[in-house]
Amino acid sequence: IARSEVLEYCETSATPSDIGGLDALKNWLNQRHAAFSDEARNFGLPLPRGVLLIGPQGTGKSLTAKAIAHSWSMPLLRLDVGRLFAGLVGASEARTRETIRRAEAMAPCVLWIDEIDKGFGGDARSDGGTSQRVLANVLTWMAEKTSAVFVVATANGVDRLPGELLRKGRFDEIFLLDLPTTQERLSILNLHLNQRRPDLEIPLQSIVSRTDGFSGAELEQTVIEAMHLAFAERRELEETDLILAASQLVPLSRTAKEQLDF
Ligand code: ATP
Repeated sequence: IARSEVLEYCETSATPSDIGGLDALKNWLNQRHAAFSDEARNFGLPLPRGVLLIGPQGTGKSLTAKAIAHSWSMPLLRLDVGRLFAGLVGASEARTRETIRRAEAMAPCVLWIDEIDKGFGGDARSDGGTSQRVLANVLTWMAEKTSAVFVVATANGVDRLPGELLRKGRFDEIFLLDLPTTQERLSILNLHLNQRRPDLEIPLQSIVSRTDGFSGAELEQTVIEAMHLAFAERRELEETDLILAASQLVPLSRTAKEQLDF
């Protein structure tokens, strides 16, 4: 496996204003950004370590990682944990050290550890303890690091998340990104509509009330589907297209609930 596949450089143009809702997270990030300055060093503040974002699919975790890097003018390096594990005994540990070294050489940068729960949430017995050792290496590095590598780790849930990750001193903060509230859905719909059709003013209140349980990604999909409906008939996008698109989309949260109820 080529080293470059473990660590991937991501181009991004996302900014915090592309994120609807999640105000507490955005405020916290603003505060941490300031902590990278010389002024903060002189004040005695430590360099920010990183943040752990936990939430269901499509709630803006990847978008946040991208927005941090772009708005802080730092390169974004995405670490594919699965690719750390391959090859001979001891190869994973060596690859991990090399990956960390490469990230530090890029500092200041954002290191995005995607799907950290899947990467490290496996059964320790099935891989001879390799994933445990690699995780321990990463955590020790995080606890001791003095470089300006801000770690953004993303996970879908806590069930498979190794407990060590949640302990104090690893991440500066842990955020749970839940499905958006009514108010957040309104701002997410507004954002996606405005990004594509800033010329239109469509009332969104009734669509908001019909999208309970939708993730940010599903709200975006609703806007795009509605645009398809209108475009297929070569007419202007209307509120009814959005209502129809919302009624046709079955959000993942509903499917998951149905499976649980079954
Ligand atoms: P996964 O766990 O599947 O990786 P994720 O939480 O990382 O999901 P994203 O990839 O960030 O989800 O979301 C997919 C897309 O959905 C984003 O690129 C964005 O267009 C839209 N989206 C999700 N959440 C939001 C939000 N809060 N505000 C605006 N757009 C959002």
